Amino acid sequence: MIKIYNSLTKKVEDFKPIHEGTVSMYTCGPTVYSYAHIGNFRTYVSADIIYRTFLVNDYKVRYIINLTDVGHLSDDADDGDDKVEKMAKEEGKSARDITDFYIKRFLIDYEKLRIIKPKKFTRATEYIKEQVSLVSELEKRGYTYRTSDGVYFDTSRFEKYGELSGHFAEDILEGARVEINPEKRNPTDFALWKLSPKDEKRWQEWESPWGIGFPGWHIECSAMALKELGQTIDVHLGGEDLLMHHQNEIAQSECATGKEFVHYWMHAAFLKIDGGKMSKSLNNMYTLEDIEAKGFDPLSLRYFYLSGHYRTSLNFTWEALQSAQTALKKLYQVVEGYSPIQEETFAKDYLSRFMDVVNNDFNMPQALATMWDLLKSDVSEQTKICTLLKMDEVLGLDIESHVGMTIPEEIVNLAETRNTYRRNGIWDKADQLRKQLEASGYLVEDRGDSYKIRRRI
Ligand code: AMP
Ligand code: ZN
Repeated sequence: MIKIYNSLTKKVEDFKPIHEGTVSMYTCGPTVYSYAHIGNFRTYVSADIIYRTFLVNDYKVRYIINLTDVGHLSDDADDGDDKVEKMAKEEGKSARDITDFYIKRFLIDYEKLRIIKPKKFTRATEYIKEQVSLVSELEKRGYTYRTSDGVYFDTSRFEKYGELSGHFAEDILEGARVEINPEKRNPTDFALWKLSPKDEKRWQEWESPWGIGFPGWHIECSAMALKELGQTIDVHLGGEDLLMHHQNEIAQSECATGKEFVHYWMHAAFLKIDGGKMSKSLNNMYTLEDIEAKGFDPLSLRYFYLSGHYRTSLNFTWEALQSAQTALKKLYQVVEGYSPIQEETFAKDYLSRFMDVVNNDFNMPQALATMWDLLKSDVSEQTKICTLLKMDEVLGLDIESHVGMTIPEEIVNLAETRNTYRRNGIWDKADQLRKQLEASGYLVEDRGDSYKIRRRI
């Protein structure tokens, strides 16, 4: 049984799918106007662990990640420039050039981190028709009003507003630092459709019953999730900054369909840098490319992510990344000394301990600890490697390609010479070479006349 912390009920709950044996899952993906940074990828790796866990538990998963290529404004609400249009202007390119380029870059890093691809990456601009008809449906049901710059959702009409985000109109009004659009009826109201500025032609704009314009940021996720996954979905994920965005998704979707939108809301905590926020101005917003340029393996970053629980913020430092890389290389070294699988045999106790912690709200630090316990145990090598590869279906550390890799020739030669001494009863020389091998990180285990070389942990 999988247990999930549901941000809506603020409780750990048993996972019960809508349809037995299948899971529908949606993750809010990147806004593709710039490079995704290692903070963003922490969220996608968390989502990947969750996806993999469902797969390992034999669920069939219908999984969607969206690509926001329109409508995300620079203040995350309804004012400011569209991030994509702004970048297009700055770089003298078309919006499509910008989004195509950053989608391509995103997918390269995505693969390097061994994040499994969803059934579909949905692009917001390919679902304009669905977004327009969703807004029309909300209008028909009386949840919207028009202003001089677009169509807005009236949050006072949705009783459950604030249940997920804890944001209520009064609080926002009290804490408002920015001037609230005077045409809004409630501070929490948000744009469903925005009209293009009269004096300016946008790269991306469409006809609609309300005039030429573009969809608000929140409506895309509702439209794509409803179209691809149905009116009620099992799991919806995103970073912890998206509570308000998700609250708006709930409002739009539930008011349009009259059904509950999502059963399990999940939010991944942020990656911090040196204890603080990542930001362009502090020059500490690293990409995977920056990590690689410093000689790190992308999977060391993945290992580093796994060292924290997805609901706890994780602090990135170069030292912490170095420790993750050291641990990962040690893991690879150990399995390099193993022979590839000849027969399937599992260490059931370790595997069930591993699945228990993974299934208990995806506790990856404990999962890694269980993996190391297995490696240090006296379970046979074949059983270890089979069990490890099964664990790696969740971890995604590419252990398989390191199994049975060659041991350096000089080590093989040393072990061979030692074995000759041993077989001829020249114990002192054999012992001396054993010590030399151990100092180089290898153990020899005698097996009759033969022997086995292993990496030391
Ligand atoms: P964006 O491209 O800004 O729309 O963000 C894409 C995803 O990354 C969203 O799910 C965000 O919540 C998430 N995200 C943004 N910054 C961070 C961070 N520092 N740590 C973890 N996730 C983040
Ligand atoms: Zn979303």
